[in-house]
Amino acid sequence: MVIGAGQGGIASALALNDRGVAALVVDEADQVASRWQARYDRLRLNTSRPNITPAGRPYPKGHAEFPTREQAVEHIRGHARDAGLELLLGTRVERLSRGNGSWTVETGNGEIEVCLRRPPIEPWAVAVAASGRTRSKRRSAR
Ligand SMILES: Cc1cc2nc3c(=O)[nH]c(=O)nc-3n(C[C@H](O)[C@H](O)[C@H](O)COP(=O)(O)OP(=O)(O)OC[C@H]3O[C@@H](n4cnc5c(N)ncnc54)[C@H](O)[C@@H]3O)c2cc1C
Repeated sequence: MVIGAGQGGIASALALNDRGVAALVVDEADQVASRWQARYDRLRLNTSRPNITPAGRPYPKGHAEFPTREQAVEHIRGHARDAGLELLLGTRVERLSRGNGSWTVETGNGEIEVCLRRPPIEPWAVAVAASGRTRSKRRSAR
């Protein structure tokens, strides 16, 4: 499972998916890439297009050298959609504990049990915390 449906979480889930591991992505927000979406509307990435390729998915040619906020959001959402990632949105993870063969995830909406999948990956590798560091919502002044 992956906690966080931002750039890091979706990239992780895509990378797992590419290797045949279907990950459940849990996010407290009600949509993918919510933090990018909440940034000021004129935001452009300061990472250039060739240097930001989540799980090997480059921004399409024709996009700005430094993608806009909308392009960044749509890039992440589009790949999550196309890969058919399993999403559990609107669900805050409060606590994660490892049992025998599963993870118990305490959420704001109750407890869920996520089974470890093996093979193809080791059990210790199945929980990814991609909950980000930046929480503040900033918008441009008009
Ligand atoms: C103004 C600004 C410009 C930036 N420009 C760039 C740039 O050009 N290039 C670049 O590489 N980086 C840039 N960054 C950094 C950027 O934020 C990160 O690269 C990227 O968004 C990090 O992705 P992430 O998935 O780690 O975290 P986030 O995008 O923060 O996603 C974390 C997700 O985890 C969810 N979450 C958190 N806690 C929980 C919980 N307990 N339970 C469930 N869900 C939870 C959140 O709802 C969120 O969706 C910029 C940051 C800022 C503020």
